[in-house]
Amino acid sequence: MTRRLGVRLVGALLALASSSACGSAPAPVTHEQTRAGPAADSAVPLVDPSLPQIPGPPPPTSKVPAPRGRLAGKVIVLDPGHNGGSAAHPELISRLVDAYTQLKPCNTTGTQTDGGYSEHAFTWDVANRLAKLLRAAGATVILTRSSDNGVGPCITERAAIANRNHATVALSIHGDGGPAAGHGFHVMEPALIAGAPSTAIVDPSHRLAVAVRDQLATVLSPATYIGQDGINTRSDMAGLNLSRVPVVMVECGNMRNAGDARLMRDPAGRQRLAAALAVGLTAFVT
Ligand SMILES: [Zn+2]
Repeated sequence: MTRRLGVRLVGALLALASSSACGSAPAPVTHEQTRAGPAADSAVPLVDPSLPQIPGPPPPTSKVPAPRGRLAGKVIVLDPGHNGGSAAHPELISRLVDAYTQLKPCNTTGTQTDGGYSEHAFTWDVANRLAKLLRAAGATVILTRSSDNGVGPCITERAAIANRNHATVALSIHGDGGPAAGHGFHVMEPALIAGAPSTAIVDPSHRLAVAVRDQLATVLSPATYIGQDGINTRSDMAGLNLSRVPVVMVECGNMRNAGDARLMRDPAGRQRLAAALAVGLTAFVT
């Protein structure tokens, strides 16, 4: 009992101590926000005009066959947390933006494992693995950034991308920078905040949180240092407060914990995480 209370207090203090759930030092904003809207979703094959044209099948056109699969017609926005170029531009990402309940830096650099594997690389990799799985099932997937070497976009813009695209669901992917002795994942869901854009999506987002939690729990254990049973309700996250579509943020593991870091550094581990997220999202939207 006492220990549990202590753990929760530590979690609460951590949440207060850092505006980023990832435990990173705030690193600010940008005017050259990397934006990956639908364009990131529609890669066009590059053609070298200097090469002779070889007769053959007609080239791909913009006419894409209608997607088939369980997720046909679903629009899923994936937000790979942070960005690889942000650390070099603190002047850009430190600009304060309105997260509804408070002002926060436009973006942060994110955390890393003790061995130097960065959160932005982790989230980029998991998001792309997940996008591939979801697209294979027919979903339209939009990422909030188009590479892992850009700056930003701001947390407000990441939420706006899902809103503008009327996403069926949005998922923000992170890795935490918690206390080294703590391990496990947690899913952050929006708190009910009077008047916030998120008011109408609090209930479905909780169902989403449960669906995602249940699947992540097949890969690693719920966090031992924050939240309850792998779920943490938050009122301080722009990505949650500003969302008008069902949304959760996942801290897939604690990158400062040796065991979690081992899983997160391992491509096979990231594939397992992506697969679990795909099942959780699919369960929610179908
Ligand atoms: Zn993060």
